[in-house]
Amino acid sequence: MVARFVLANLLPSILAGALAWGVIRLMYRFLPVRDARRRLALYGIPLLKSALVLLGVGLVLPWPPIFAWWRAAAVPWHLAIPSALIWAGFTLILQDAYRRRAYETVLEGARPARLDFPEVDEVLDEVIELYQSTTPWRRRVPYPFGGDAGRIPEVLPVLSSDKIDVPLVLTDPTSQAVLLPSSFAPHLTRDQLKSIIAHEVAHLVISRPHIASATWWTLLTPISPIAIFLAEDIQREEERACDAMAAAVLGDRETYAEALVKAFRLIKAPAKRPVPAAALVPQLTGRQPAISERVEALVRDRSAVDVPWTQALMSYIVWLASWVVLF
Ligand SMILES: [Zn+2]
Repeated sequence: MVARFVLANLLPSILAGALAWGVIRLMYRFLPVRDARRRLALYGIPLLKSALVLLGVGLVLPWPPIFAWWRAAAVPWHLAIPSALIWAGFTLILQDAYRRRAYETVLEGARPARLDFPEVDEVLDEVIELYQSTTPWRRRVPYPFGGDAGRIPEVLPVLSSDKIDVPLVLTDPTSQAVLLPSSFAPHLTRDQLKSIIAHEVAHLVISRPHIASATWWTLLTPISPIAIFLAEDIQREEERACDAMAAAVLGDRETYAEALVKAFRLIKAPAKRPVPAAALVPQLTGRQPAISERVEALVRDRSAVDVPWTQALMSYIVWLASWVVLF
């Protein structure tokens, strides 16, 4: 039965979820849904699609007749649920081990950042003070994300390492730290360093309702393996939100956007030393560089596309179209 579950439930559910995800991504290309809340809600469609296929539920269309034998071979839902739970336990243990190993690798050989960046402690204090001040940065946090400066730990280590190429932040409550690649040291101006620190601290300040939490979505992996891919999209939404927060806190979006471009430029070979478990460790430049998109989001003036009803209309079209195509 395990083989049948893997071949006739798990495999088609990954394929169906990936197809649905591709359709949504393709539609975003033509219909720029920029509203974070709507984008997040629409990512639920591939999740639902692949969860239904995983459970072998027959309602799910289209299963063209050529796949009829595949569907007939699927383990029925009352047997698929226990199999899915076994799969769940397995993926959760694996994820946890993977994250722990990623943290260990990243922290190995890290030293206090002030050894490479003499101004870093001062800059960190300035950034924390800005978050704690009454500037209206909270209003710039895109819904459904929120921000609370009280989440910044009392002691936040800033470390530097020769082994990473991308600034990153460890957000696990047991081990919070900002890590900077030592190779950045000779190239950053004080303002650029401040921008990068402001972005990384934003990851600690941000609060994520469940729908917007990458961790939550990876926890859904057992229900639908496609959730792990979606977690990456969710992380991209979080990057955008942290950009908005950092730019608002610094009060100067152009300088912040420039620092972001500079950071992208300093990362010479992003693929050479990828951070393990990249989906679990937020990195400044994300997994797939989307620099143009992020800079555009920062410096772009609002246009007709951003009007709430245009956004509502476009997301409604994506919603309807994906149901027509996928179900
Ligand atoms: Zn980030």
